Amino acid sequence: MQKQEKPVKRVQAPCPVAEKCGGCKWIHKPYKEQLALKEKWVRELMEPYCKLEPIIGMEEPKHYRNKVHAVFGEDRKHNAISGIYQEGTHTIVSVDSCLIEDQKADAIIVSIRGLLKSFKIRPYNEDTGYGLLRHVLIRTGHVTGQIMVVLVLGSPVMPSKNNFVKALLKLHPEITTIVVNVNNRSTSMILGEKEQVIYGKGYIEDVLCGNTFRISPKSFYQVNPVQTEKLYGKALEFAALTGKETVVDAYCGTGTIGLIASDKAGKVIGVELNQDAVKDARINAKYNGVKNIQFYQNDAGKFLVEMASAGAKVDVVLMDPPRAGSDEAFLSSVVQIGPPKIVYISCNPQTLVRDLEYLKKKGYQVKKAVPVDMFPYTDLKHVEMVCLIEKKR
Ligand code: SAH
Repeated sequence: MQKQEKPVKRVQAPCPVAEKCGGCKWIHKPYKEQLALKEKWVRELMEPYCKLEPIIGMEEPKHYRNKVHAVFGEDRKHNAISGIYQEGTHTIVSVDSCLIEDQKADAIIVSIRGLLKSFKIRPYNEDTGYGLLRHVLIRTGHVTGQIMVVLVLGSPVMPSKNNFVKALLKLHPEITTIVVNVNNRSTSMILGEKEQVIYGKGYIEDVLCGNTFRISPKSFYQVNPVQTEKLYGKALEFAALTGKETVVDAYCGTGTIGLIASDKAGKVIGVELNQDAVKDARINAKYNGVKNIQFYQNDAGKFLVEMASAGAKVDVVLMDPPRAGSDEAFLSSVVQIGPPKIVYISCNPQTLVRDLEYLKKKGYQVKKAVPVDMFPYTDLKHVEMVCLIEKKR
């Protein structure tokens, strides 16, 4: 008998440019499988320290990115194109919609591209230096619905600016602010120094765990707000504050975690290296009427060494370092201060376990840990962890 070939199931490609973009390495993996793989990876890493709570995934793991960027250019016939750079190159791949980006943001980018011709605005050409529009950046407030459009231009003068704003708002009345940013350098940075608000307030607001945050074109803000709420929610659950504690929020960025913790704490001390982030953090504190928080611009390690030598008393250290993890100056000072609880939020499980090893040797033990999936469809390593670490009695 002749062997019959199994019919090949044709799956519709979820994204036509996935290969060229390279952002979603897991585009073809069912979401359940992605979660299982991430959980397995961190479970193995965390084996020597503690058991894990089940990974927290997304119910709707699509269109979660609240920050969307498109680069503009021209095809050979001088038609405007917008999209992404092909991975590792400066060739623009045209993109109209993306599986993980906010859909309204994608639609606005397509509309902007459509308006260019009638306003005689040419996209910037990286090779010749001709043209005006280099990039469009869109940031959206998940809870507030506010939308910011940033037009990144190669030179400061935008012809018929007011009419362009009118035409864009007619198509998208949901836009709440439009900012022109000037970037005339040949650099891989998207945004330049100079900014001019041409419509609205120049920033948007969003709400995270009941607090309102101001987001400017350059502010750092987590890109997956749905999962960020779950992540911070877990951090607070693990901290189990009673209203009396002195809390350090280290690597605090724009102050999000510390501000969310502030109404359950006695006082909060935030420390962050980046001057702009500290400025935003102070604005955010005012915005939310939070009075029991103070932000310091400093290296977290140096700052904690000073706190330790001054004999400071701290009840809980919340820490959320960058991918490189923390350092010995910071960790040894934490040990010297000796808070009963540390809540470690990590975006890199590999440096997390390195730091846990240090703390374990110095009399701390990991009590609870939970992975949170922040970037569905991208790849294995994009998973965050929250750990509760306690001092052994
Ligand atoms: N907790 C914030 C930001 C976390 S990202 C949030 O969730 O939004 C990590 C932060 O650590 C960044 O803001 C970065 O600027 C800051 N950082 C990096 N190295 C640092 C250092 N040595 N000392 C203090 N902050 C540092």
